[in-house]
Amino acid sequence: MKKILLTDRQLPTRWYNIIADMKTRPLPPLNPATRQPATPEELNTIFAEELVKQEISTERYIEIPEEVQDIYRIYRCTPLVRARALEKALDTPAKIYFKNESVSPAGSHKPNTAIPQAFYNARQGVKYLTTETGGGQWGTAIAFAAQHFQLDLKVFMVKVSYNQKPYRKLMMNTWGAEVIPSPSTLTQAGRHILAGDPDCPGSLGMAISEAIEMAVRHPESTKYCLGSVLNHTLLHQTIIGEEAVLQMEMAGEQPDVVIGCFGGGSNFAGIAFPFLRKNLTGGAHIRVVAVEPASCPKLTRGAFRYDFGDTAGLTPLLPMYTLGHDFIPANIHAGGLRYHGAGAIVSQLLKDGLMEAVALPQLETFTAGMLFARTEGIIPAPESMHAIAAAVREAKKAKEEGISRTILFNLSGHGMVDLYAYEQYLAGNLTDEEYMPENTIERG
Ligand SMILES: *Cc1c(COP(=O)(O)O)cnc(C)c1O
Repeated sequence: MKKILLTDRQLPTRWYNIIADMKTRPLPPLNPATRQPATPEELNTIFAEELVKQEISTERYIEIPEEVQDIYRIYRCTPLVRARALEKALDTPAKIYFKNESVSPAGSHKPNTAIPQAFYNARQGVKYLTTETGGGQWGTAIAFAAQHFQLDLKVFMVKVSYNQKPYRKLMMNTWGAEVIPSPSTLTQAGRHILAGDPDCPGSLGMAISEAIEMAVRHPESTKYCLGSVLNHTLLHQTIIGEEAVLQMEMAGEQPDVVIGCFGGGSNFAGIAFPFLRKNLTGGAHIRVVAVEPASCPKLTRGAFRYDFGDTAGLTPLLPMYTLGHDFIPANIHAGGLRYHGAGAIVSQLLKDGLMEAVALPQLETFTAGMLFARTEGIIPAPESMHAIAAAVREAKKAKEEGISRTILFNLSGHGMVDLYAYEQYLAGNLTDEEYMPENTIERG
C-alpha cells in the first residue's frame, strides 16, 4: 500500500486538548503591566471570544463545528504515505511514513487553524480581520479561510517580503485579501516609523504592531488573529495527528518516533499530541521529536522564562523557551522557523522531559529535502525539510544499529512558492548559518 486515506465519514470530529492530560499544566499568560495573569476580558479585546475560551480550556476534547468540518473536507483527509522510495535510497531497515499537509489549497498545514479562526470570528459578528505575515504562508492560509466566511481581511506584510515574494501576495489577493506593505501609513505605529525612516524595510514586530493597533481601534467589528504559538492554534492542528493515529492503525503500524519541524510549535503539536496521548494515558513509549534550525535554537539552547510572543512587546508575557524577543535569527530560507520562542504547552512538555528537540544546520536539511524531492516526488518547503532531515537521521541510525523502526514525520508544506531557495541551493550559494546570541535589535 502506497498511501492511506480516510473517507469523509471517518474524519475525526474533535480536536484534542493535551492540557487535560498534563500533570504539570503550562503557567498562565501574564499582563506585562501588572504581571498578573491576563484575564479573558483583556484577551477578548483582541481575539474572538470562542478562541479565548479555547486558549484557557482544560477540556480533553473540543467538538469541531460542522461548518469547519465542511471546509476541512475540501482537502482533508490528507494522505498518510509510506516513503518506500526514500527508504530504498537510504537502504534502511526502518519504515518511513509521512503525513502530507502540503495538499491544502494554501500548500501548508496553516488552514487547519485559519478556518476555525475565521469561523468563530464570523459567528461572533466580526466583520474585519487583521493579521501580519512574514514570508506569506500564514497570510495565504487566513486569506483562503476569511473569504469562505465573507470576512474582510487586511494582511500587513513585511515590506521586504512584499517586494521579494510577489506570488504569496498574489495568492492572498486572489482570495480577496488586501495586502499592505508594512510599515504603512494606515496606522500610527507605521506613520511613526516611516517619519523616522521612509525606506524602512519592515519587520514582523512592526507588522504585528500595525495589525493589533487596527484591531484595538475597532474592538467590536475588528479582530486580530495569529497563526501559531498560542494554545488554540496548536489545538486546531491536532486534526493532523488524530487522522494519522487512525491511518497508522489502518496500516497496522505504531510509530516508534514522531517528528515535526518547529517554528512556534503548531504543526509539530498537530502531528505529535495525539500520539503523546498514548504515552500520557496509555503507557506507550513513543518518542516525539521537534526539529528547529541550528541558527534559531530556542528549544535546545534557549532559556525557560516569561517573554513576549512578538518582537514589539505587545502580546501578554508567555511562559516559554526563548532566545529573547529581540533576537534576530539569521536570514535562513525556512522563514517559518525564524521565531525566537516556543508555545507555552510545548515548552512545558519539553521542560518535563516528555518530548525531545534537535537543532539541524541548513545544508543538511536541503540535502535531505533534495533526496525527498527526487525519491517521493514532492518538492518540500524549506521548513518541512527539517522534519525530513531528522527522519533521515533516524533511518540511518536504524541501519547502523540493524534495527527496524517505524518513523512518522509531518510534511508541513510544499516549496512551490519557495523555489528561490532551491535556486540558491542548486547554484551552490547556500551556507550553514550560525546561532549568534548577540544578534538582537538595537533599542534606543
Ligand atoms: C509556518 C510554517 C511552519 C512553522 O510553523 P509551526 O507553527 O511551528 O508549525 C512550518 N512549515 C510550514 C510549511 C509553515 O508554513
